[in-house]
Amino acid sequence: MKTITILSGKGGTGKTTLSASLAVLLAKRKKIVVADCDADAPNLGLALGIQEKDFSSWKKVQTNEKAVLDKEKCDGCKKCFEVCNFGAIKWDKEKNKPVFNSFLCEGCGACQLICPNDAIKLVKIDNGKIGFAKSKYGFALVGGQLNIGTTGSGKVVSLIKEKAEKLARNKDIEIILVDSAAGVGCPVIASIQGSDFIIAVTEPTPSALNDLKRALRTVEHFRIPYGIVINKYDLNKEFSKKIERFMQKYNIPLLGRISYDKKFVDALVSLKPAVIYNKKFTKIFQDILKNIFNEL
Ligand code: SF4
Ligand code: SF4
Repeated sequence: MKTITILSGKGGTGKTTLSASLAVLLAKRKKIVVADCDADAPNLGLALGIQEKDFSSWKKVQTNEKAVLDKEKCDGCKKCFEVCNFGAIKWDKEKNKPVFNSFLCEGCGACQLICPNDAIKLVKIDNGKIGFAKSKYGFALVGGQLNIGTTGSGKVVSLIKEKAEKLARNKDIEIILVDSAAGVGCPVIASIQGSDFIIAVTEPTPSALNDLKRALRTVEHFRIPYGIVINKYDLNKEFSKKIERFMQKYNIPLLGRISYDKKFVDALVSLKPAVIYNKKFTKIFQDILKNIFNEL
């Protein structure tokens, strides 16, 4: 079983479009499961025509803890207020008691440790959900969502991947295709850990290249082989060449170039993968797939 992860340093580079079309083509050759690890903004399901109601089961997950006060035990010593580095504790002067803001609380536990009266407990909270659905294209999608205003998407991503791996083991799946969160934070690290190959998607803009380089430093830290797809290649050919020179310098394989086409947007609007929406896109993604298998 291999895990291939699609990554982009920033949002809006076409990662979801690429993931959806590669999944459809890959499923024609291999038994696959797809993991949508963008728990902050999951939309791979939509690109595959899967809506929230199509998920056969949603399971609440609790990956975060929040500090809760037992007022009876608190004597107002103020130590918790002084130790919190996240501004999650305000001081009620009238009552001489701390007031905890659960949105700001990171669950670090410092206040609990310092409280001399055992007046603070960390309690688990529902901060997201994970589930799975069958796509029309012969594979299952495992996905998740972080609750609005909560943190801990990295841990939610780990649970999504665990679920996908369990499904893969039970169903003799050959490839887990992971659509990573964008950026370089915890959810990205959780997305790429354990991958056998990374497909990094970028577009020809300075900000995209800059963010891509940052994301690749994380990939290199884990010593995972990778290649790059340049999306919207023709929108700024000069800058695309600059990206290719950077790739040549560091011996990074070019997996494919995708030209800008408004029909990619139309496909997303129609809730269809590009290769289903318009057959003319099939060759582009088939060639990318071929290049990926050459590198695996
Ligand atoms: S658990 Fe950490 S972040 Fe939350 S209130 Fe206590 S000290 Fe502040
Ligand atoms: S550290 Fe404990 S006893 Fe002191 S103010 Fe905070 S909750 Fe109350």
